[in-house]
Amino acid sequence: MAIERIVDTSAHDNDVVEQQIEVSLRPQTFTEYVGQDRLKRNLELAIEAAKKRGESLDHILLYGPPGLGKTTMATVIANEMGTNIRVTSGPAIEKAGDLASILTNLADGDILFIDEIHRLGRAVEEVLYSAMEDYKLDIVIGKGPAARSVRLDLPRFTVIGATTRTGSLAAPLRDRFGHIYRLEFYTPDNIARIVTRSARILQSQIDRPAADLLSTRARLTPRIANRLLRRVRDYADVNGDGIIDVKTATNALELLEVDELGLDPADRQLLGAMLENYGDNPVGLTTIAALTGDETSTIEDFYEPYLLQIGFIERTPRGRRVTHKARRHLHKENNG
Ligand code: ADP
Repeated sequence: MAIERIVDTSAHDNDVVEQQIEVSLRPQTFTEYVGQDRLKRNLELAIEAAKKRGESLDHILLYGPPGLGKTTMATVIANEMGTNIRVTSGPAIEKAGDLASILTNLADGDILFIDEIHRLGRAVEEVLYSAMEDYKLDIVIGKGPAARSVRLDLPRFTVIGATTRTGSLAAPLRDRFGHIYRLEFYTPDNIARIVTRSARILQSQIDRPAADLLSTRARLTPRIANRLLRRVRDYADVNGDGIIDVKTATNALELLEVDELGLDPADRQLLGAMLENYGDNPVGLTTIAALTGDETSTIEDFYEPYLLQIGFIERTPRGRRVTHKARRHLHKENNG
């Protein structure tokens, strides 16, 4: 069985209160959006140019691991453009008809944000890329011999697509995006800024050394930084005076079993199982998934990006291999 993880980068908070907190922490403007400077510079320019010409923004594809701020950036873009945003996702648009009804309800300049765009079905994808290309929608009305095709004009909308993998996107769809940007992992310094900002919004007191501590354990990912902050804040409220200092943060993270690099028991179990069964040899993705009882997509999206980033696993043509660096880290932990 897959393990429920505190450092999971998916937006898995089922609790309504948690979801509301998450929304309240979401930056609304470029100024509030920490880091990703190259992306911000490029988008600011594109927005200014589109506004100057009185045109809608060209379609934008944002890719990178979950939790790095793709959805947030889409809402920031809509705010900065002063337009409406409609949020949906690849798996939510099941039929071409679903997409047609979304598209025909948009207004000029509106943004359509499609999360997990790589999971759109083939038929829907085809309708989407022709709509993106010439703002026309071909639909078939009626069935059998009486069926006829109608071409509808669509408003000048902008698609912002988000994906964890550009590789899974059909080339014709990818080609419709005028801007393609990769979101990078954040620097610890920027994560500390996000933690400090979030603490201020939550009216929680955290000192700088404690924010620095969280910044090294949040897997360089804002979503995890915010989640850790909320858990540490709970701990400080229950076990202390609510103020988060290094001691409280350390104790809370120990309880959560998040180590000094942000690894949790699920990571350690994965790396341990790979080492135990395969040593230095590369292991295929399906085998890794079988070792942890997860889907291969969970390994690719949620475990692997950070482990690759910190050099704990490496990709080889024959699979993934645990590095010496990871081995040393696990050895140190196991031996106190
Ligand atoms: P993604 O769509 O890439 O999975 P989200 O946009 O949902 O990620 O981001 C997750 C959370 O992290 C957001 O709710 C937001 O509070 C926070 N966050 C993301 N990017 C930033 C940022 N650049 N600055 C501050 N907070 C951020």
